[in-house]
Amino acid sequence: MNILILGGGGREHALAWAVLQNPKCDRLIVAPGNAGISGIAECAALDIMDAGRVAAFAEEESIDLVIVGPEAPLAAGVADRLRDAGVLTFGPSAAAARLEASKSFTKEICDAAGAPTAAYGHFTDAASAKEYVQTKGAPIVVKADGLAAGKGVIIAESVAEAHAAIDDMFAGEFGQAGAELVIEEFMTGEEASLFVLCDGETVLPIGGAQDHKRVGEGDTGPNTGGMGAYSPAPVLTPEIEARAMDEIVRPTVAEMARRGTPFRGVLYAGLMIEAGRARLVEYNVRFGDPECQVLMMRLGAQALDLMHAAAEGRLGNCPVNWADDHALTVVMAAKGYPGDYAKGSVIRGLDACPENSTQMVFHAGTARADGQMVASGGRVLNVTARGATLKEAAERAYAMVDRIDWPEGFCRRDIGWRAL
Ligand code: ATP
Repeated sequence: MNILILGGGGREHALAWAVLQNPKCDRLIVAPGNAGISGIAECAALDIMDAGRVAAFAEEESIDLVIVGPEAPLAAGVADRLRDAGVLTFGPSAAAARLEASKSFTKEICDAAGAPTAAYGHFTDAASAKEYVQTKGAPIVVKADGLAAGKGVIIAESVAEAHAAIDDMFAGEFGQAGAELVIEEFMTGEEASLFVLCDGETVLPIGGAQDHKRVGEGDTGPNTGGMGAYSPAPVLTPEIEARAMDEIVRPTVAEMARRGTPFRGVLYAGLMIEAGRARLVEYNVRFGDPECQVLMMRLGAQALDLMHAAAEGRLGNCPVNWADDHALTVVMAAKGYPGDYAKGSVIRGLDACPENSTQMVFHAGTARADGQMVASGGRVLNVTARGATLKEAAERAYAMVDRIDWPEGFCRRDIGWRAL
């Protein structure tokens, strides 16, 4: 098979790495890719938001399967255009990607599907939004309806704070994404992510993970895109997972199919778990980053067979063969992240990190300059390892971190602490 992966972060490096382990992959192109990916696959400079160009490229290169990494091209209809051109694609249509691109749409689907989630209101003007907050009180959660790169959610500790967030969002802080708001009940509990492959009808859980969003140890400080992750998530017991599948995921997928917009791809359910039961926080319509890195490390070569089956609509008879193991990834970021940080610092020592089926340094934001590996983003490396226990996976990942010579970078030393 000739395979094209769209994206250029740590998630896509992990996808490429897993796909390449499968002998069914004859040729792999990643667009745009990054410096780490270029070490294992061909990279193509392609504007992945340009659906017409992506479809033309797939035809020119005789691509048999496209795997779409990030949400933006999905929301922009890239998967629709590829399917229209007859190219087999792993990733939902723009209509199904609304499960991530519109929070009010997700709430409406949850209502129709009877899926447990936070009580909410949906608003298009500040006065009624504020009135709702007034009646509900704080803490309360104010969310921009559209895609805001994870920044459009304010957990307001007071009514005044919620009112300020409402004003900011309607004033255009998140552009069009904040033209409508969802205001929700604040849920308590422990968060975990459940990943499920869907072929439009059949759903196949492929594991759970937990990530660390805060920049500081002990889960303190500002929010980030994620400083580390591990799989499986101990809080997501088999019983809670089975119940979440029955109460949340299957009814959602059935409702999407009923509406004529079946979901094909990976559905990532962000769950809040309390007292033995999960409620939905959000859906994402792609793999999480860095959760993908730990899932790929655990799935290995079969990841391609599963994504291929989902794209072809034959997940019904696909088993997942889990090794009874754990994976953990540590994000190394440029000092200053998630605030201002410098680009271009040299990263040494990567050669001292053996890379194999149980340990890998996935690149999220690197480039080559004058023959050296340099940082080109905020989150830069995802140091990932597998182990018989979570403790072993963590020890192996941090042993690699310690070999990396990058004075301008930092990482959290406590990834997995809750589970450990
Ligand atoms: P991302 O894609 O980065 O996860 P997002 O912008 O899609 O974020 P949400 O996932 O809806 O937004 O919210 C971000 C975070 O805010 C959640 O992971 C959770 O920690 C917190 N959060 C959101 N909604 C609630 C809620 N109702 N109660 C408590 N916490 C919440």
